Amino acid sequence: MQVNMPLTGIFPDQNIKLMKEALFYKTLGSDTVQCLLCPHHCRLSIGEEGKCRVRINENGKLIIKSYGVISAIHTDPVEKKPLYHFYPGKKILSIGSFGCNFHCDFCQNWEISQSFPTNHYKLHHASVDEIIEKAKQIKDNIGIAFTYNEPVINYEFVFELAVKAKESGLKTAMISNGFIAEKPLMHLLTYIDAFNIDLKVFSDDLYRKYSGGRLSPVLRNLKTIRKRNCHLEITHLIVTGMSDNTEFFDDMLNWIVNELGEHTVLHLSRYFPNYQMNRPPTTPSLLKYMFDKTQQKLPYVYLGNIFLDGSSDTSCHNCHSTVIERYAYEVNVSGLDENGNCSNCGQNIIQLIWK
Ligand code: SF4
Repeated sequence: MQVNMPLTGIFPDQNIKLMKEALFYKTLGSDTVQCLLCPHHCRLSIGEEGKCRVRINENGKLIIKSYGVISAIHTDPVEKKPLYHFYPGKKILSIGSFGCNFHCDFCQNWEISQSFPTNHYKLHHASVDEIIEKAKQIKDNIGIAFTYNEPVINYEFVFELAVKAKESGLKTAMISNGFIAEKPLMHLLTYIDAFNIDLKVFSDDLYRKYSGGRLSPVLRNLKTIRKRNCHLEITHLIVTGMSDNTEFFDDMLNWIVNELGEHTVLHLSRYFPNYQMNRPPTTPSLLKYMFDKTQQKLPYVYLGNIFLDGSSDTSCHNCHSTVIERYAYEVNVSGLDENGNCSNCGQNIIQLIWK
């Protein structure tokens, strides 16, 4: 952990408060705090910041630096999250901030996840109300997605925004590494409609080595999300020399089938060299092999970051007719009725009415 100089607390040009007291922490003695938001449970002395770089002990209080700080805000196809069984073909206002509680060598968003800008003049800020208003004004927008960097570490802002979004009739989605403590997750579940959780590799050793995280809290949280009946999809990046191990892969598939169910949606994503890893990209033949292998256990499997014919389409698990066709972010849902059922056999595919 690094020791930082205290921040001013104010955006100089906008007069907006930059910092806010964290919701989940406890004090340990006179000047040490312990953050209880994620399973790292960082213990911080005065001036010290957590592994995520956005939580800091300021004079004995745990303060977040990223409240309302926006790194990106875009209206994206919901498929881009990726969420394939959640309002297919619709748009979702997507926002991100800075920092992450993981430090993956292969991070694909490292410019925002592995930094927090120190020049406050360059930061963009938005209030909860401004984002809600923006979300409501966008045509065909279903709601708000928390994405781009790890939303868990911006919990206070995400939580407030999610509560307000639900009150406003908007849907909410969170794209996360799933590394959050139990209590904050339970509070969040009431206000998040859909999750895409990144399951990096089915090995605790490799989680620790390549991400600085742990596997078991992620698995526990996947089960919790499933039990609460929130919409859940999983992304698995197949990284060369890391998660391309077929033994780990088989274990992961078996775990998903047994613990989350055979209709769990799984996105297998192609890795490209980035950040601190320059191993070659996942080969198309390996992706195809893993895709075929997965289809034998999980009918709702998709490939990402690569185009292979048919690997983005959705086929009904009952009658096998194609119900959704996708090409890039063009989506044709003509095989579904208005209740999300297969129009050929009536099997429910998407448990949502999106009209
Ligand atoms: S959110 Fe996690 S990484 Fe960040 S300070 Fe809290 S325990 Fe540490």
